[in-house]
Amino acid sequence: MKHIFVLNSGSSSLKCSVYAFDHLPNKKHQPVWEKHFDWKKPPSQTTLKQSLIKTLKSLKFPIDVIGHRIVHGGAQYRESVVIDGPVKRKIKQLAELAPLHNLADLQGIELLEKLLPDVPQVAVFDTAFHHTLPDKAAFYAVPYGWTISGIRRFGFHGISFQYCSRRAPQILQQDIHKLVVCHLGSGASLCAIEQGRSIDTTMGFTPLEGLMMDTRSGSIDPGILLYLLQKKKRKGDFLSRELYHKSGLLGVSGFSSDMRDIEKKAALNHRRARLALDMYLHQLIRQLGSMIASLGGIDTLVFTAGIGENSSLIREKTCQAFQHLGLMLDPAKNVKPHPEDGIISSAHSKVNVLLIHTQEAFEIARECYSQTT
Ligand code: ADP
Repeated sequence: MKHIFVLNSGSSSLKCSVYAFDHLPNKKHQPVWEKHFDWKKPPSQTTLKQSLIKTLKSLKFPIDVIGHRIVHGGAQYRESVVIDGPVKRKIKQLAELAPLHNLADLQGIELLEKLLPDVPQVAVFDTAFHHTLPDKAAFYAVPYGWTISGIRRFGFHGISFQYCSRRAPQILQQDIHKLVVCHLGSGASLCAIEQGRSIDTTMGFTPLEGLMMDTRSGSIDPGILLYLLQKKKRKGDFLSRELYHKSGLLGVSGFSSDMRDIEKKAALNHRRARLALDMYLHQLIRQLGSMIASLGGIDTLVFTAGIGENSSLIREKTCQAFQHLGLMLDPAKNVKPHPEDGIISSAHSKVNVLLIHTQEAFEIARECYSQTT
């Protein structure tokens, strides 16, 4: 039996779980233990250390492997790797591309190295699943020198997309050729998956591109940035703060980044809540259309993550926009609570619509098992 400790550290939260595998599981396993820490603001090294020491002491079993979700693996990491000095240096370098995440991940790795020096650690990258993107989808139409210097679409949420693309055929009990997964959490992106391989996705060089998100803008005209930099003399730090932390649902509504609040106030006819909801849906529908076009059709659509799993309204409005493809939700199945994964399209729908509870920690644990066995 292998006990795998999985860490998923965000800028102000840390999710820890332990999985016990005696073989590489295909079907979902529950963790044998889990704990979530939420801090009001990014925690200090000391707070993080104390929480981890306490956590490790409370465990009743020895840890054999430690797995980390690493947001940005650049072009170099096409799959998970056992962490050593050069891997740590690369993760640090890549932090300049994913400022919200990679440094927090590195802190976690270094702390665990001190606390459990003999236990191997594995980095599981959110970008790796997208290594199959063809150049035409990965490259930007910029001077080719930029592309050579490494500016390209990486895509993110790959661990969730990989899990959903393995899980969806299990639910349907058939192979899927053209699948689109909508990962709609606080960060959000879509992935077009052909025969299990990512061929297009909405996030890009950074996790800022694509859909409108909780506090992130998603795609905007790059000319806006030039205008603000050149004509309005705004500084890069200011633009970064505004685009990552003050935009999206929060920026438009002016009061919340949480879809639950937006939906509640929109139902009461709050003008900017309605605007935020309309814009969110417009962007989602437009970009979902582009994923379907990249695939040349769709046979299965998956909703996952906080909004995808819980908002029947977002699912209903999104699916309504694709009725012309013969996609039909079953209204009763869509609105009922979904503690389990399931099919929510009607029996007559030409496209299967699934609700899947994403299991990133389980997918990381699976990767750790295969990398160290
Ligand atoms: P993270 O990216 O932080 O892991 P999650 O996948 O947990 O995010 O998604 C968090 C978001 O899910 C919240 O910000 C909230 O907007 C949304 N959410 C959670 N429950 C609901 C719900 N019942 N209805 C609408 N949105 C919800």
